Amino acid sequence: MAQRILVTGASSGIGRATAECFARAGAQVALVARRGAALVEFAAALGAGIFPIAADVTREADAERAINQATERLGGLDVLVNAAGILKGGDITRTSLALWDEMLNVNLRAVFHLMQLAVPHLKASRGNIVNVSSVTGLRSFPGVLAYCVSKAGVDQLTRCAALELAPFGVRVNAVNPGVVVTSLHSSGGMGAEAYQAFLEHSKSTHPLGRVGQPQEIAELIEFLASDRASWITGATISIDGGRALTCAR
Ligand code: NDP
Repeated sequence: MAQRILVTGASSGIGRATAECFARAGAQVALVARRGAALVEFAAALGAGIFPIAADVTREADAERAINQATERLGGLDVLVNAAGILKGGDITRTSLALWDEMLNVNLRAVFHLMQLAVPHLKASRGNIVNVSSVTGLRSFPGVLAYCVSKAGVDQLTRCAALELAPFGVRVNAVNPGVVVTSLHSSGGMGAEAYQAFLEHSKSTHPLGRVGQPQEIAELIEFLASDRASWITGATISIDGGRALTCAR
């Protein structure tokens, strides 16, 4: 049977590229994000077996509905990919509690909740989870404090869940990208000029001398979700042009 996949954050960037990657490989895919119209259009472009589900992953009822609709339409679930995420800047003096809550709710609490809801289905299929973390989960960067903490939380959540679910044959892994060209930074309030300067600067902060593309992350996610990765669990895998190797100097 073709794989049955749920991808959050499927309306843009890494989630969208991941959904496309799975669809091209013949999987059935449930696309989850808030922008329903964009998902409907994308699903139509990908063809049969692709199901758009408009949902805000931070709303408990939406998350439950997303898992229920996806498992009904797909006839079960083999893979959950948590790619929905947001990035807003703020250091320790300028991170309001509201900003902290927003970042942790989307990037960590919703990931936990969706994993929890998916577990019974994944136990039934001996499926797996791939979480989209970040180099900021593995390393500390100034000015994005809540984001870094949320991603470090995703990494530990990945490892803890991997241990708990290993007896059931359910694998849990995370990918930790460096800077990837998506809407993440502009949605978080970075202007076009500042973003271009950031991408240019990123050439020097990534040892391989360039930023990444969503497709590159999607291919790693597809690999981790596949049987080719059947002995990998609890891993947080850097895909960052060497960024996590560097120290400030
Ligand atoms: P994009 O902004 O391009 O995509 C983010 C996606 O998340 C969109 O599909 C958006 O859909 C969805 N989303 C955001 N909030 C919610 C919500 N409350 N409910 C449902 N969906 C939501 O960014 P990326 O593709 O870059 O981000 C994907 C993941 O990759 C994130 O977790 C990010 O932290 C991580 N990452 C990104 C890096 C980068 O440099 N781009 C580097 C390292 C990690 P919609 O607006 O329709 O709801």
